[in-house]
Amino acid sequence: MGKVYLIGAGPGDPQLMTLKAARALGVADVVLVDALVNWGCLAHARSDARIVEVGKRAGAGTSQAFIEKLCIQHAKAGQTVARLKGGDPFVFGRGGEELRALLDAGIEVEVIPGITAGIGVPAALGIPLTHRDLAHGVSFVTGHGADINWQALVRSRTTLVIYMGLRNLKNIVSGLAAAGMDPRTPACVIENGTLGTQRQVMTRLGALSSAGFRGPALIVVGAVVGLARMPVQEKAKAA
Ligand code: SAH
Repeated sequence: MGKVYLIGAGPGDPQLMTLKAARALGVADVVLVDALVNWGCLAHARSDARIVEVGKRAGAGTSQAFIEKLCIQHAKAGQTVARLKGGDPFVFGRGGEELRALLDAGIEVEVIPGITAGIGVPAALGIPLTHRDLAHGVSFVTGHGADINWQALVRSRTTLVIYMGLRNLKNIVSGLAAAGMDPRTPACVIENGTLGTQRQVMTRLGALSSAGFRGPALIVVGAVVGLARMPVQEKAKAA
């Protein structure tokens, strides 16, 4: 019986993957990789490893059940499988379901955590998610779906890190405003964080817009966003 490594590839930049993840990739016979993962991460895979892209983008791609079946099949055939997911496998990554399915099938699994985008991307921009004077906590939430308790989030007074929120941005902004958040609260959208293609807009809640972004992108809302290191062009404009 083979073994499955359930691996977080980190937020984007392949250099932000852990040493343990790189080592596990280096022993895998099969690598099942999500669309979110930068291909630079695969430099650690064996040259003879079978690389299978199982990405799900815009509803297309491989179904969750099929991915789980593939993992199980390969492991049962005695292969070492690296299941590589973006960020951390257990943060909005359906890693919990995959782990359950593998364990139920009697397969040995080792989970290798990764830096989730919600932590790595703001940090790389100089945004401290918590701060003694500005934020005593942080909430990681999905912006996808309708049943989001904006009241509770605003009342929590924590920094909000919103995943998968780009398409729902209008509702997010109006939900937060209706729940009493000051529209002048610093907010930003960061697309392709930590990658060479990164783009971001630093603004305020009331002026947030998804225009021009296609994702993957994070929305970060809270006073700490005001501490971001502005990119040089924006500094020049502001001066
Ligand atoms: N398991 C992943 C999240 C998967 S959900 C993790 O821990 O990071 C996919 C969402 O993650 C995207 O819609 C986006 O909101 C966010 N995301 C992932 N990588 C990102 C990146 N490089 N820049 C900005 N957002 C990113």
